[in-house]
Amino acid sequence: MAVLEVLKFPDPRLRKKCVDVEEVNDEVRSFAKDMLETMYSFRGIGLAAAQVNRQIRVITLDCRPRDEGRYLIEEMTELEQQVPQPLTMINPVIVVREGKTQYEEGCLSVPSYYELVDRYEYIEVEYLDLNGEKKLVKTDGLLSICIQHEIDHLDGKLFIDRLTPIRSTRIRNKIKKGGYPEVEPGELDEQQQKAITEELVP
Ligand code: ZN
Repeated sequence: MAVLEVLKFPDPRLRKKCVDVEEVNDEVRSFAKDMLETMYSFRGIGLAAAQVNRQIRVITLDCRPRDEGRYLIEEMTELEQQVPQPLTMINPVIVVREGKTQYEEGCLSVPSYYELVDRYEYIEVEYLDLNGEKKLVKTDGLLSICIQHEIDHLDGKLFIDRLTPIRSTRIRNKIKKGGYPEVEPGELDEQQQKAITEELVP
């Protein structure tokens, strides 16, 4: 496994549109493993291939709230609880969108900046799993928000593009002035190591 470099806004490579994965093979599985390790290392809850400079439609997620090594399952919605995480989605497509919600979003490509973003509350998403099998996830809660954020990355879009023009300009200026903090990847704990292995060997 390897921790990959995460591109930061305004890197133009984050703007490229990603293409569908044609075959879910060992190379894709190994890449998904690296994505999960990278996501956990930088304490992220989601990552898109575009952020590590691969223009293919792959996202990884683990939005389970955690405290001192324990998953706070009771804080998740009923629908979220039914979706196994970590979750790798290949060629994800949102087929149903309902309701409205807002969440203070951050991004590993825009580290240390947060803004309230409008999203759909409930979504249904078709995707291929790591075995290349077609799956459908129905979810709301943080998982729904996170999936929408990551799919945006595959289309070259960042959360700061979804703000009103005034707020978007404000955050871009703040980033220009303030830059980003130096973030070193952290070690994965045993639970995260296990999560990666188990997701790939169901
Ligand atoms: Zn992001």
